Amino acid sequence: MPELPEVETVARGLRQAILGRRIISVTLGKTDFIDDPVALEQHLPGRRIEAVERYGKFMLLRLSAMNRERGVTTNGDAAPASLLVHLGMTGQIAPSPAGQPLEKHTHVCMLLDDGRELRYTDARRFGRIAYLTKASLAGELTGFGADPLEVSKEEFADRICGRRARIKALLLDQSVLRGVGNIYADESLWKAKIHPARLGANLSRKQAHTLRRVLQNILRKAIVLRGSSISDFLDAEGEPGEYQRHHRAYGREGKGCYRCKTPVRRAIVAGRSSYFCPRCQPSPRGFAALPLAGKNGRKTKRKDAEDAEKSRRRNGKSR
Ligand SMILES: [Zn+2]
Repeated sequence: MPELPEVETVARGLRQAILGRRIISVTLGKTDFIDDPVALEQHLPGRRIEAVERYGKFMLLRLSAMNRERGVTTNGDAAPASLLVHLGMTGQIAPSPAGQPLEKHTHVCMLLDDGRELRYTDARRFGRIAYLTKASLAGELTGFGADPLEVSKEEFADRICGRRARIKALLLDQSVLRGVGNIYADESLWKAKIHPARLGANLSRKQAHTLRRVLQNILRKAIVLRGSSISDFLDAEGEPGEYQRHHRAYGREGKGCYRCKTPVRRAIVAGRSSYFCPRCQPSPRGFAALPLAGKNGRKTKRKDAEDAEKSRRRNGKSR
């Protein structure tokens, strides 16, 4: 699923491409991922796209008040409004010449005043599109945590260190921080040498400060490289991102750690596959990684037995 850097990449592309354009008409395909399809058809035409913002993992297209000369004001809803676009797993949004044949799975076409169409395609339709008035937007945005690129180091530590939840779960929790997902959580925990299963409350404030710093650096670098393309992600020009080449933990199970060469391990934390170096990121007591599969299987089994023995001894001592 696109995370902060991928969504920021798409938002920047759209800003370049469609800012200031007016929507002339809307044509819809399948609508099961749209909150109120009729509202799109009724309320978008006549509005100018005045800003494209990223909020967490979704985008907000800020729309002007209805153009009064067009005289198509409906339901008295002429005030400025927003279009929320969440790309889900496979959503893509980009402008195309109106004459260009539709890609498969194109479900929203917005004809713009320069003759192009802003098209949304989504093979799996896990995305979401919603037309929001000022009031419904305010409701939509309550409950989100801080933006990880803007959060101060004290606020970040406050949001993490007081919580008896696993740090990986806290990073993924959009009410703690908005925009971080599985990839950038694992990458930043590896960089900060913090095991994903540690409890927030067991981290020192110094560790929280380090985590914030490396998370911000990783997100900024990923934005520069236009995000990570794991399966389907393409930016607003239809180009894949390049940050996947810089992954140090995510998806690297069994491969050597970039710092110490120990095979990267995987465990399920917060219901998600989590990749970490068992040496650089010591696990909390009693927490087990999944057995390593594949080529290194035999070596790994022996290593597992050693680890289990070590942990038995450690636990024995501590009791
Ligand atoms: Zn390591």
